[in-house]
Amino acid sequence: MYKCFFCNKELKEENIKKRVRCIYCGSKIVFKGRTSPTKVIAR
Ligand SMILES: [Zn+2]
Repeated sequence: MYKCFFCNKELKEENIKKRVRCIYCGSKIVFKGRTSPTKVIAR
């Protein structure tokens, strides 16, 4: 899962397979988002 740097929307890997570009705002800057954030054990 990737995220757009500008609009912060989630981009699927297949969306940026051909061109690294946000399908929402057209930005070319995306970063890899974490699908599974670090878990914190709550007691
Ligand atoms: Zn965007």
